[in-house]
Amino acid sequence: MDITKKYYTHPWLQELTTTVTSTHEKEGQQLVVLQETIFYPTGGGQPHDLGSLNGEPLVDVFEQDGVIYHVLTQPLTSEKVECVLDWKRRLDHMQQHTGQHLLSAIFEDEFGYKTESFHLGIEYSSIDITASNLTLTEQEQVEKRVNQLIFSNLPISAYTVTSTELDQIPVRKLPQIEGDLRIVEIQGIDYSPCSGTHLESTGQLNLLKIIRAEKYKGMTRVYFLAGSRALADYSHKHQLSSDLVVLLGVPHDELVFRVQSELEQKRELERKLQDLQGELVTFQAERIVADAEGLALFLDLPEATIEEAQHLTRAILNLGSYYVVINLGERLVLGHNLPTGLNLGRLIKEYGQPLGGRGGGSATNAQVYFAQPKALQEFHHFLESNLEEIHKNN
Ligand SMILES: [Zn+2]
Repeated sequence: MDITKKYYTHPWLQELTTTVTSTHEKEGQQLVVLQETIFYPTGGGQPHDLGSLNGEPLVDVFEQDGVIYHVLTQPLTSEKVECVLDWKRRLDHMQQHTGQHLLSAIFEDEFGYKTESFHLGIEYSSIDITASNLTLTEQEQVEKRVNQLIFSNLPISAYTVTSTELDQIPVRKLPQIEGDLRIVEIQGIDYSPCSGTHLESTGQLNLLKIIRAEKYKGMTRVYFLAGSRALADYSHKHQLSSDLVVLLGVPHDELVFRVQSELEQKRELERKLQDLQGELVTFQAERIVADAEGLALFLDLPEATIEEAQHLTRAILNLGSYYVVINLGERLVLGHNLPTGLNLGRLIKEYGQPLGGRGGGSATNAQVYFAQPKALQEFHHFLESNLEEIHKNN
């Protein structure tokens, strides 16, 4: 094992004093190589560590041809370097990564589902397992066993084996590489070739929770949270349900029932409201028709929506034969049901569009929008003066 990689030999080391062996500048960034390092570089599904070198924050750590590069935005002023690891981030990564090994092992052990890939995300982690249809019972059984093994506090170790020694180990997934291999073992449960950093025992996982599972490319993607993330998620969700308890005034156990009945009530009220609105529009239409003089009805309804105006137009036309022009302020909604060749869509195109109107429609239903109030008034005035005349000529 490479003893300069302190994150392997001493994964709990959070501070280190060492020296710079070389510095390279690349695209305005400083790539620093150290004699030894506590910073894990991106690899094996685990994101790189963060922290600082002499107070300068690290922006990236990566490995290339066996050399680990620490990326800074400012050059270092001294050869001697104080390394400080962002321990919270590292511990979180170790919890998610070890959690993944344990979860993958149990999915395979219980149901033969193999893990095809692992993603360690900022909010949650996921594995893709070879289950075409994972049931909730399987999911719960795996989660329960994983948490039992966390309680059992099994030791976790990492060691390097040669290819001949490898034959003696029940490795979960063999990588396509030659030579020595680093194995991370959860005692008696899992032997995985892995380059990541891990906890010392399963107890340090505290808790593992499967958040959800969804079908993905013929497999199942299982989202999970381990350690502090699981606790944070619990706190968040507990707060959420406590807020709902206060808001709805029912105990936790009755929340779902209460929300269901509230939604049902809402749908019922919406139905009633719709019926009443229908009646109201009919009533409005009756009043308008009773007051009507002539065939053209011009109405000003600046508060109404387009749908309401269209609804009212239909209700009026159900009661008799008219032209209806409703002014909504920036828009006119037009309709008619007269036995005439008058085409409202064409009327807007020929007389409304030259005034800047945007819109159109069919022969009997149309609407037009004017950005300029003056233009709308002009077109409105044109309709008032000419509608009956145009009607007679068609
Ligand atoms: Zn791993």
